[in-house]
Amino acid sequence: MIIRLKQGVDPNSINPLLGALHAVFVPNGVANLVVTPSSVRDLPEEFEPFTDQYQVFDNDIQLASSLYKERREVELGPAVIGRDHQNTAVIIGPCSVESREQIRKSAELVKDLGLSILRAGSYKPRTSPYSFQGLAEEGLKLLEEVRSEFGIRIITEARDATHIDEVIAFSDIIQIGTKAMYDQGILRKCGKTTKPVLIKRGFGSTLQDFVQAAEFVLSGGNPNVILCERGIRTFETRTRFTLDLCGVAWLKEHVNLPVVLDPSHAIGMAYGVPDLARACMAMGVEGLLIEVHPDPANAKSDPAQQLNHQQFRELFVTLQELGNALGLRIF
Ligand code: PEP
Ligand code: MN
Repeated sequence: MIIRLKQGVDPNSINPLLGALHAVFVPNGVANLVVTPSSVRDLPEEFEPFTDQYQVFDNDIQLASSLYKERREVELGPAVIGRDHQNTAVIIGPCSVESREQIRKSAELVKDLGLSILRAGSYKPRTSPYSFQGLAEEGLKLLEEVRSEFGIRIITEARDATHIDEVIAFSDIIQIGTKAMYDQGILRKCGKTTKPVLIKRGFGSTLQDFVQAAEFVLSGGNPNVILCERGIRTFETRTRFTLDLCGVAWLKEHVNLPVVLDPSHAIGMAYGVPDLARACMAMGVEGLLIEVHPDPANAKSDPAQQLNHQQFRELFVTLQELGNALGLRIF
């Protein structure tokens, strides 16, 4: 249940009422909210004097539900994304920041194509402890250099809660990766900022779990959440993961958050990325996330799936054609 409090209700008068209900106070401008578990079906008596309106939900997807609010919008770089805005954010960059030269070339490509957002990881959540783990703070410094030189926005990920404060302070968009989707430390900290947060779906997560991860951030008070479908694990082993476009159709219908699609991690091989990227764009989502590296064969992480710059330029021409046909502005 989402309870909209009357204007001017002092949060301190509500706090003592929350615990027994397992309810959460959500700062929301003038008229704040209280969100209870969805199992609460009737307005609790003690809230009556403070309540302006309330709405009952049949599951714990509440603040993210399109029944609560049809659509949410997030300011991303120079554009607002949201389903009414006819914008598609094409977010590109290498899997990891590896060197000054590599990230500079990547930033040049973003700028040259008139795009706005560079993505590269500095704290990499690797499956093996023996793989490249990212440049950590050094990588953030290199990203800072290109951000100020090229005037672009940066999305980078937090691997765990130990460096989440640094990543929040640094990023224009905070990425929560597939393996960190359940990390409560990260989710709760991201609820305390208002910077946009992009949550990638856990590769073994249901849509319900995925959107509930977003509920942690939304209920912390941050309305700027973007969902990213990046492929889930199925019985199929010929592709790295399976891009769940049916799930995306479900999200578009039932969830009010912008959706970004990541074909690169889904298929895991560069040859399929252009076709998938066009299919994703045609689905009318709010953004694409595509891994692009100046020299993919020598990339320190995810070498097989990254497009080289020429391959991305060719894909980009076709994305623009699609954008023109669909009335979508790429930024
Ligand atoms: C990445 O974006 O480079 C990444 C590690 O993605 P994911 O969390 O989806 O595996
Ligand atoms: Mn990657």
